[in-house]
Amino acid sequence: MGQRSSAEHRDFSPLAAELSQSLLAWWEVHGRKDPALKPWMFTKDGRWPEPHEHLNVLECWIAEVMLQQTQLRVVLPYWMRWMAAFPTVDALAAASLEQVRLQWQGLGYYSRARRLHEAAQQLVMRGWPRTLDGWTDLPGIGRTTAGSILSSAFNAPLPILDGNVKRVLARLAAHPRPPARDEALFWGWSTALLDASRPRDFNQALMDLGATVCTPRNPSCDQCPWPSACAAYASREPCRWPVTDASKPLPFQVIGVGVVLNAAGEVLIDQRLEEGLLGGMWEFPGGKQEPGEAIEACIARELKEELAIAVTVGEELITVDHAYSHKKLRFVVHLCDWVSGEPQPLASQQVRWVPPAQLSDYAFPAANARIIEALLGKLRGSAHPDG
Ligand code: SF4
Repeated sequence: MGQRSSAEHRDFSPLAAELSQSLLAWWEVHGRKDPALKPWMFTKDGRWPEPHEHLNVLECWIAEVMLQQTQLRVVLPYWMRWMAAFPTVDALAAASLEQVRLQWQGLGYYSRARRLHEAAQQLVMRGWPRTLDGWTDLPGIGRTTAGSILSSAFNAPLPILDGNVKRVLARLAAHPRPPARDEALFWGWSTALLDASRPRDFNQALMDLGATVCTPRNPSCDQCPWPSACAAYASREPCRWPVTDASKPLPFQVIGVGVVLNAAGEVLIDQRLEEGLLGGMWEFPGGKQEPGEAIEACIARELKEELAIAVTVGEELITVDHAYSHKKLRFVVHLCDWVSGEPQPLASQQVRWVPPAQLSDYAFPAANARIIEALLGKLRGSAHPDG
């Protein structure tokens, strides 16, 4: 079926109609067409939309941004809560960034929440865009997210290229280089295969194929509509694709963290700077352990450097390991008593003394949620020493 050596780039154009038809036929039977799973993809009376019908673009936009780095089944409860909290773009634009972050808490990649909020404020001024460029001008929207929103909401004939689609295409072509190095080629393939008469269905089908059949490990080639065209299948080792750059081990760092309490029983938290990893989230203060440094000394030093306070470092509260996409961190958390110095936000946006029961009003990253749980458990235990 037109396969070439892996040194050449495959041209899917001659096969496009056949591949598209077989994919759509597979999707009609096996696609994830469940209103309980993707409510934004259904009409208000619970039907899959006809080609001429439009869907709610706000709902599609929020879903597509949540799905950028996160799986469908994780996204669904967040999307439901989000749409209940911000049912219109005006409600989202009018909300505080803090309220927006609280709804996002736990989904990770937190800059997405801030960009959604910024984009909502732009949208109330200029209305919903109907072009690819109009969408990619908004914060947090790249070409694939824009293509997904427009094809989902308006059945616009635009291709997509998310992680699932890249994997399927890399295998179909047995492409010899990592997809990230050949983005233009992959976009060309996605465009060539797109069924322009049913772009909404086709893009959903391609995503469903990647998510349920052509999975990263153990793809179910026996259930795939494309084995006769697939070069990776022909090799009998489909998992060799997509090719990746040799991965380096993730760097590992130990972070000393102080849960600082004052005489009133309040706990000290700080808000991270807006830019960078976890921008704008709240956290317990701390920082990197230096080589050869005891963890207690690390915590005392970090609190002095970042907040200009002196503390007594007490017992360990909890140790939490957390892996990010680019590094692994171990948070070693100690209870501390505040001794002197008015806390200053020297390396953060602001600092605040908060009663422990009110910590749930602030958006914390996942690793900090476990620290809060340990702190509240500890405080409950010391309130009832005989219990
Ligand atoms: S045949 Fe296998 S490797 Fe090829 S696209 Fe289908 S599931 Fe993926």
